[in-house]
Amino acid sequence: MKKILIINTGGTIGMTKTDRGYAPDAEYFRRAMYHMDSLRAPGMPAWDMTDMLPLLDSSNMAVSDWNSIGQLIAENYDAYDGFVILHGTDTMAYTASALSFMLEDLGKPVILTGSQIPLCEVRSDGRENLITSMLIAASEELCEVCIFFGGKLIRGCRAMKYSSDGLTAFVSPNLQPLAEAGISIVFNRAMLRKRPEGKMHFQPLDRIPIGVIKVFPGIQFQLFEAIMTESLKGIVIETFGAGNIPATDGALLHIIEKGYKNGSVMVVCSQCPQGTVLLGTYEASSALKAVGAVSGKDMTTEAAIAKLYYLFSKGYDSKKIKVLMEQDLRGELS
Ligand code: ASP
Repeated sequence: MKKILIINTGGTIGMTKTDRGYAPDAEYFRRAMYHMDSLRAPGMPAWDMTDMLPLLDSSNMAVSDWNSIGQLIAENYDAYDGFVILHGTDTMAYTASALSFMLEDLGKPVILTGSQIPLCEVRSDGRENLITSMLIAASEELCEVCIFFGGKLIRGCRAMKYSSDGLTAFVSPNLQPLAEAGISIVFNRAMLRKRPEGKMHFQPLDRIPIGVIKVFPGIQFQLFEAIMTESLKGIVIETFGAGNIPATDGALLHIIEKGYKNGSVMVVCSQCPQGTVLLGTYEASSALKAVGAVSGKDMTTEAAIAKLYYLFSKGYDSKKIKVLMEQDLRGELS
């Protein structure tokens, strides 16, 4: 019989109502899991659950929490066939992206899930998300970090939270779902990652100083000059369309040049969820390339941030990081 480990980090799925709104409730959730007969039905894997205390609303997730989750998986890696991480939806795509990089040569399924409606409410989507995630975590099909939510299994480093109230809360606009759960769970086998030959290695992350700038019409780039210091290691620039920026007064280029001289890695992503950055297609983007920015191609901002944390934590120099940012490491870019 397959055995999986459920790591409860918090999130709506296990929250109950308090005077100040919904908040994580470890006691309640343990009892709810105990009373759910379907979790011990034939066909379900055996499971253990561990709480990562204090349970968090995922808006409070930090790099140190990603390290704790990764550490728990590494310590229990040989004892279980797969892992389910219960997590709030708000930053689930960031955690899924980070774990995709941190768990090198992953040979088992790691499935993040949660719910939009707490398990304590009658219409909760948590039950179905949890049960199907457990079945997927026990399957031999998969050896990567994914999110299962609202009937879809999507690659963790391609995911973004798309809806704050819909039950299909996550999308991966540049990649088909890896599986869909209808009457049965149908995997898109051609798209799954191959089992690695090496042994899983856990790479913890350091709290690297990185930033994100989202451009908008009328943006006064001078305001950002102060953050472009030598201590800023990486910056994701969320541009228009295929990588275009308002370049008329040259203010951004001046800032980017400063970053380049400081050795910061500047990654260009798009504000469009679907499609790719192609630096140099328009005059408005070729200048970015000329001053040393690299293309995030069709990576999500979530994945670009996680990848910067990961590559700097590996101790690589910025020259190597620039090369690797444009290369596919975990299926995060096409
Ligand atoms: N604020 C909650 C969280 O991210 C939302 C959720 O779980 O859906 O923890």
